[in-house]
Amino acid sequence: MPQNRLDAHSLPSDETLAPVFAIEPHATPIPLDERNAMLVDPGFGRVFTDHMVTIRYSERDGWHDAKIVARAPFQMDSASAVLHYAQEIFEGMKAYRLPDGGAALFRPYENAARFRRSAERMAMVPLPEELFVESVRALVRQEAGWIPEIDGGALYLRPFMIASEVFLGVKPSAEYLYAVIASSVGAYFKGNAPAVTLWVTQEYTRAAPGGTGAAKCGGNYASSLIAQAEATRNGCDQVLFLDAIERRWIEELGGMNIFFVFDDGSIATPPLTGTILPGITRDSLITLARDMGLELREEPYAIDQCRADAESGRLVEAFACGTAAVVTPIGTMKMRDGDFSIGSGGPGQTTTRLRQALIDLQRGTAPDPHGWLERVL
Ligand SMILES: *Cc1c(COP(=O)(O)O)cnc(C)c1O
Repeated sequence: MPQNRLDAHSLPSDETLAPVFAIEPHATPIPLDERNAMLVDPGFGRVFTDHMVTIRYSERDGWHDAKIVARAPFQMDSASAVLHYAQEIFEGMKAYRLPDGGAALFRPYENAARFRRSAERMAMVPLPEELFVESVRALVRQEAGWIPEIDGGALYLRPFMIASEVFLGVKPSAEYLYAVIASSVGAYFKGNAPAVTLWVTQEYTRAAPGGTGAAKCGGNYASSLIAQAEATRNGCDQVLFLDAIERRWIEELGGMNIFFVFDDGSIATPPLTGTILPGITRDSLITLARDMGLELREEPYAIDQCRADAESGRLVEAFACGTAAVVTPIGTMKMRDGDFSIGSGGPGQTTTRLRQALIDLQRGTAPDPHGWLERVL
């Protein structure tokens, strides 16, 4: 057994875990002035930091070889399982700058638990949750200088895991590569549009009962891209998926959950039935809404009812949510049978209030009664 083998039961406590990551610093990191120029307007997912985390798994050695190294191309065999059978999962989370200059993650143990559930669904070997959180913590400590000091700026963390066994056979891989990369980001939607337009696809579905809809896997995105392209062709920003059986019940966007606000002040979001990705932003907003004394229902909502309610004025606001885009108002929905707008077509009062409450909490400018912030620095 190699000395640096890492098992769930043998992991040391938080305080002493950090040294398990061997740090091999980048030989030629991006100079500070160049970095600062990149952070003025980083966009989303284009500016990457100097380092990454990697950890390997093999049946013989377990999880081993945890390190922080220069971010660089992977050397990969052309017969690696992931390239042929798409055994891949990922997470998306952000590190925020705190008012005192420190940095924090938001509910990272939720990401760790979801990553484990995604691994189980994709027949991959789960990474111990404490090791997941520590890997992200270690990278944020290394790369904190890459958090942009702009409005809405954050360090976006992308943990992911791929099947790395060299074998062309249909079975779960016996080897895995886990990695975390980091990207300095600004706002997700360019142009800071006040509200987005959704294309309601009646042609494609995202997830079926028994499928992988609740797992955060690249395959779900691969199969949703054609619908996203259909949305773009129809002049829309994002695609809204309906359920795969009746093609009637609203599920979610390609990478965001959805909420509705009614004229009586109540809020609704589709329930987690196995085909919807259980968003951590979704879960947090449900709690925040209830904290504010708002009525929040997790209930199925049909697209024809949504349209009727938008037209009657019963439905007054809608918004999409996720780590990347935070809370984004939905102004208009377009579908084969025509378009309809929701409320004023711009950001509504409740959407704005929930969005601000979440942002204040994530950035450490509001109290944190649920203990969601995990300071890393
Ligand atoms: C990641 C993701 C979300 C949002 O999840 P958060 O934890 O809130 O970032 C929603 N839907 C899909 C399909 C996703 O992949």
